[in-house]
Amino acid sequence: MNPITKAIRIQTEKTNEMEHSTPMFLTSSFCFDNAEEMRAAFADENDDNIYSRFSNPNVKEFTDKIVALEGAESGYATASGMSAIFGSFMALLKKGDHLLSCNAIFGSTHTIISKYLPKYGIEESYIPVNATEAEWEAAIKPNTKMIYLETPTNPGLDIIDIELIGKIAKKHHVILNVDNCFATPIIQTPIALGADLVVHSATKWLDGQGRVLGGVVVGKKELIKEIYLFCRSTGPALSPFNAWVLSKSIETLDVRMERHASNALFIAEQLTNHPKIEVLKYPFLPTHPQYNIAKKQMKNGGGVVCFEVKGGLENGRNFLNSLKMLSLTANLGDTRSIASHPASTTHAKLTEAERLAVNITPGLIRISIGLEHKDDILNDILQALDKC
Ligand SMILES: *Cc1c(COP(=O)(O)O)cnc(C)c1O
Repeated sequence: MNPITKAIRIQTEKTNEMEHSTPMFLTSSFCFDNAEEMRAAFADENDDNIYSRFSNPNVKEFTDKIVALEGAESGYATASGMSAIFGSFMALLKKGDHLLSCNAIFGSTHTIISKYLPKYGIEESYIPVNATEAEWEAAIKPNTKMIYLETPTNPGLDIIDIELIGKIAKKHHVILNVDNCFATPIIQTPIALGADLVVHSATKWLDGQGRVLGGVVVGKKELIKEIYLFCRSTGPALSPFNAWVLSKSIETLDVRMERHASNALFIAEQLTNHPKIEVLKYPFLPTHPQYNIAKKQMKNGGGVVCFEVKGGLENGRNFLNSLKMLSLTANLGDTRSIASHPASTTHAKLTEAERLAVNITPGLIRISIGLEHKDDILNDILQALDKC
C-alpha cells in the first residue's frame, strides 16, 4: 500500500463494539489475566501494553502512521517536539561526544544544544546552512557522534542538501538526525536521502489545527530502541488523547499540505517585487538561493513564506499591527494563516549576531499560510503592507 493509504488505514485492532473510528484509550495502565502474563510483559517477552508511559494503543497508532509516511523502521512519540529532540540527543550522546548542528535551528533546540548539552560534557559546534561539502568534512571531529539538521530552516527557510550530508554522515559513521517539521513527510522523506533519525514537532503541520502538543522521532530500529528506553524511564510520554487527535489529523495531512503549499506559492508569487518588501523567500521560487536543492528533495515548497519589510523593526511591527485576519500567535502549521516576528519572539534568546548569522533580520516576518481562500490571505497582507 502507498504510505498515504497507510496513514489513513493503519488503525488499532477493533474492539468488540466494532467501531469504525479508533476509540480513545484513556487509561494509565493495562490489565493482565494472570501473574505469568504480567511477568512476561515486564520481561519484554511480548509487546503487551503495561503502562501508558511506555506504550498506549492511540500513541502506537499515531506513531505507526508517521513510521509509514517517513519510511522508517520504528518510532516513539512524545509529549512535544522538544522532548522528541531532547530524547534523541540524551539517549544517543554521552560525555565526550560531539554534536555538529547546522546553525539555523528552532530557538529551543538552540538552547538545548548551546546551554544544556555542554552541562553534561557533550561538545557542540555549529556550521552555516550554506557550508560547502569541504566545510562539512572539516567540521567533523574524531568524536562527532551526531549531525543535526533542520531543512527548511525555521524561520529563514534555508534548504540543506540532505542527500549530501547523508553521504558525509555515512562515510564518518555519524548519526544523521533531521528535524522534518517544516516539510512533513508529505513533502520530503529524509530517511530515503540518508538520514538515520527524523524528529517532528507534531504540534505544527501534523496536527495542522493548532489543538495539541506532540512530538515523534522515527528511524533505525536500534536507535529508536535506545530513545524508547530513555523516554520510558524519564517520562515525556505523549498523552493518549493528544495521540488520538494527531492520528486523525494524519489522515488529512496529504490533502492539507497540498493546499497549504499551493496557497503559499500563490502568495509568494504575488508578493514578489512588492515595493514595500525587501527580500522574499519561498523554497519553490527560482529566486530562492537553494532553489535547485529544494526542487531536488522536496515535492512542493511547503506552507511558510518569509519576507523582510522595508524599514526594519519599526515597519515589521507596523505590518503585524495592521493585519486584520491573520493571527499573531506563536504557532505555525494551522488551518488559519499566522504572522510572526521571529527576532522579538521565537528567536529572542539568540544574540543579535547569532540572529543575523542565520538571516533573522530585525524586520523579518514569517507567514504560515493557512487554508483560507488564497485571495483573502493575500488581501490582508497587501492592506497591511500599505500601512508600512
Ligand atoms: C515548534 C518546533 C519545534 C518544537 O516543537 P514543540 O512541539 O513546540 O515542542 C521543533 N522544531 C521546529 C522546527 C519547530 O518549528
